[in-house]
Amino acid sequence: MKVYGRCENCLEDISYSTSARTRVEFAMAHNESVGLFCKGCNKNSAFHVDQLFTKPSKIAQLCAAFIFFFGTPLFYILINQILTESRSNYVIYVIGGFLIVPVLAFTIINKQDQTRVSDFNRRKLKGRIHNILKQKPKPFSLGFIIYRIFD
Ligand SMILES: [Zn+2]
Repeated sequence: MKVYGRCENCLEDISYSTSARTRVEFAMAHNESVGLFCKGCNKNSAFHVDQLFTKPSKIAQLCAAFIFFFGTPLFYILINQILTESRSNYVIYVIGGFLIVPVLAFTIINKQDQTRVSDFNRRKLKGRIHNILKQKPKPFSLGFIIYRIFD
């Protein structure tokens, strides 16, 4: 997916493609910081992973809207013939139920994209490590040793 860093100079969002789904994954796959090049001001700036964010995908939104606005009438045209010819209530209910498919696809695509965005944006890397280290563990426990190393 695409993550973005906002250029301090021109406030343009610079995109970066990654397979990471969270900031923790991003730090493991790349680094805690990445250099992004702003085409607006021809400048390279370093971004900490916590400064990066993602936003709702325009492609996902377009796909969802496309399915919804074209899929629904298309489904309706396709099944309308069966509905008008059929005398069985059961067939009408089942076929009529198919009308829900484009609506469902629209909802699922949007929901998945929202989850993706909040998975990445909600949790910061620094906050997590900081919080773990903040609760001072008992001396000589594994947690204490880790605490001393990172302190
Ligand atoms: Zn810039």
